[in-house]
Formats: sequence, structure tokens, C-alpha cells
Amino acid sequence: MKAVPDCIFCKIASGQLPCEKILEDEYSLAFMDIGPVVLGHTLLVPRQHGETIEDLPEDTAAGMLKNLPRLVRAVRLGTGCEGVNVLQNNGRIAGQVVPHVHFHIIPRDKGSEFQFNWPAGRYEEGQMQEIAGNIRDNL
Ligand code: AMP
Ligand code: ZN
Repeated sequence: MKAVPDCIFCKIASGQLPCEKILEDEYSLAFMDIGPVVLGHTLLVPRQHGETIEDLPEDTAAGMLKNLPRLVRAVRLGTGCEGVNVLQNNGRIAGQVVPHVHFHIIPRDKGSEFQFNWPAGRYEEGQMQEIAGNIRDNL
């Protein structure tokens, strides 16, 4: 498994940097986010370095994501929150600061300070089908 020098999450995965670990296996590890947007904010990262989700081999992605249901349940029960957001940022424009793939597991409760707007839009006639076609062409 190639670690990238100066990558914080590669260093955490290899044990060179400390973390408050929640789980680990062959493919991934989960640990507490040091800058929690809500207390209990946890990260799930692949051991293998990839900058964005597009860079991950399918077996690495599958190996990591098989832990997601169990981890989300543990975060929910362990923090006593009502719901959970799972977020994953790809690229600076999307808010990614650490260039090693990671999933944020964020506990949510009524009145929690972490909020986001969901500005649902609308398609013009035929526009959804056209964009869907462009996406399918790139699978
Ligand atoms: P993102 O903006 O999606 O790249 O999120 C990066 C996340 O990594 C932030 O929530 C940081 O608080 C978190 N983070 C950065 N360094 C560490 C670290 N050494 N241990 C745990 N979490 C970290
Ligand atoms: Zn890395």
C-alpha cells in the first residue's frame, strides 16, 4: 500500500501520526475528526491513498464502504443523536481540504448548529434527460 509523503491521513493510517481510532481493518480506518462540526464527528478513510473518490480502485472503495452502516449506527447510538449526515467532499471547489479520500459522519439533532440549505432547483423540458445522457456516456 503506497503512502504519500506529507499526506496527513496516510500518516494516520500508517500509525506515524496519532488519532482517536474507532475501527480499522485491511482496507480502512475510522477515527474522530479533530475539528468536529458537531461533537462525535467521525471520519472514515481508505488506507490506500487516493485524492478523490474517482481515484479509488473499486475493491478499496467497496472494502471501505462495507464499514459504513456499522459505523453510522455506532456514531448514532454512541452520541445519542437522532440522525446522521454522511458527507464526502471531492476537490477544493467542493470543500475538500485534506487531499486523501474521507467520508464525514456527522451526528445530527434538532437545534444542532450545523445546518445547510438544500436549494432544490428545476429542469427545463428535456434538460434532465440530456444531462443524464451525458453522465451515462461517461460511465
Ligand atoms: P475536508 O474539508 O472534507 O477535506 O475535511 C477534512 C477534515 O479533516 C476536517 O473536518 C478536519 O477537521 C479533519 N482533520 C484534519 N486533520 C486531522 C487530523 N490530524 N485528525 C483528525 N481529523 C483531521
Ligand atoms: Zn494519503
